Amino acid sequence: MSNGIFDLEIVGMGVFGLSIAWECSKRGARVSVVDHQHYQRSSSYGLVGALTPHVPEPWEAKKQFQFDSLLMAEDWWKEVYFTSDIYPHYCRCGRLQPIMDEKGYELAKLRSDEAQNNWKRQAEWKIVRAVDCAGWKPKSPIGWLIADNLSARINPRMAIKSLRKALINNNVPLMILNGQEETRCEYRVLATGTAGLTSLSNELGLPLVAHEKGQAMLIDYDASDQPIITGGGINLVPQPNGLTAVGSTTERYFTNPYKTDYRLNELYSKAIELVPEVANSRIVEKWAHDRPRSVTRAPVLGAHPTRKNTFLANGGFKIGFGLAPKIAEVMAELILNGNNLIPHKFSPENAISEAVSQKAKADK
Ligand SMILES: Cc1cc2nc3c(=O)[nH]c(=O)nc-3n(C[C@H](O)[C@H](O)[C@H](O)COP(=O)(O)OP(=O)(O)OC[C@H]3O[C@@H](n4cnc5c(N)ncnc54)[C@H](O)[C@@H]3O)c2cc1C
Repeated sequence: MSNGIFDLEIVGMGVFGLSIAWECSKRGARVSVVDHQHYQRSSSYGLVGALTPHVPEPWEAKKQFQFDSLLMAEDWWKEVYFTSDIYPHYCRCGRLQPIMDEKGYELAKLRSDEAQNNWKRQAEWKIVRAVDCAGWKPKSPIGWLIADNLSARINPRMAIKSLRKALINNNVPLMILNGQEETRCEYRVLATGTAGLTSLSNELGLPLVAHEKGQAMLIDYDASDQPIITGGGINLVPQPNGLTAVGSTTERYFTNPYKTDYRLNELYSKAIELVPEVANSRIVEKWAHDRPRSVTRAPVLGAHPTRKNTFLANGGFKIGFGLAPKIAEVMAELILNGNNLIPHKFSPENAISEAVSQKAKADK
């Protein structure tokens, strides 16, 4: 790489763009990061921050990738913290999930065995008695819980601030551009979230984006460094500041992605059902945003299908923070060394092929 003012321009100041910029700058590339709006408007500037694994069976490439990323996360975020001096609130606090009935117990047993095979003793997924768990816990009608020690929490807003400051301390410029300016760079990464997936869909005439919105909130329940609790499709994520994040809704049909509404009351009721002791807490903040969801539900990473020297990093969907360290690593390897370690399932070609087949079905 030579000629350009920067070797690499990252477009997008969400967790994907900033993480890739961080990884590339650590490896000596001359990087700049641009966005067309204030970074606090990205889907990364949220409230929840659950870094939790998929169930450990059936095993496949996406789960292995996520597993690797979750294992890397502690050291990765520590380095960002040490460079920025801003604490991202990362904590490998583990997670508890209720087992609701005998069938659920049998499934949990199978998953516990599969975790031993697939997680290779690097983390545990086990069945425990609720009465043996000190601290807060979910309600289980049969008295059994699943405990894993791979899950972690982060505070998305502090993580974004921490990454930004680490980049600034590494002399990486972060710039707001209004779309008119042309910057000179040799390579470009488009980490532009939902807007990026939408514009690629329009360019190719294919449904590469599948719109989805989520709402979340903070309640003033203090569970400090206790485990995340997951059940009935929601997460309660304790933060170290006396607050607990509760997320999130899943909405396929919506008009305003940034508006919170009555669905947060339903979410709160579900949280109380899961952990009755949160019933007397107050809602202190509400937040809504669309998620960058690709047609495959998987990340879309690799060379841009129509633009030279341009790469895509998108499709973080519900687990963008959990995947960010590994995504930063494989993208840096690809861009700087031409070494493609990205699972085929995450390639733009795979997303395009899925979109082609969905379009064909819809056209029938
Ligand atoms: C309610 C909710 C709860 C969530 N909970 C979790 C969770 O608990 N754990 C987890 O891991 N993940 C969670 N996520 C998902 C996670 O937030 C996303 O996967 C992640 O933030 C995606 O990051 P990104 O950088 O790809 O996109 P974004 O954060 O959306 O960033 C994209 C950036 O690109 C910029 N941009 C777009 N177009 C242009 C352009 N043309 N020029 C310049 N800039 C442009 C945008 O302004 C934006 O700043 C949640 C998401 C939501 C909505």
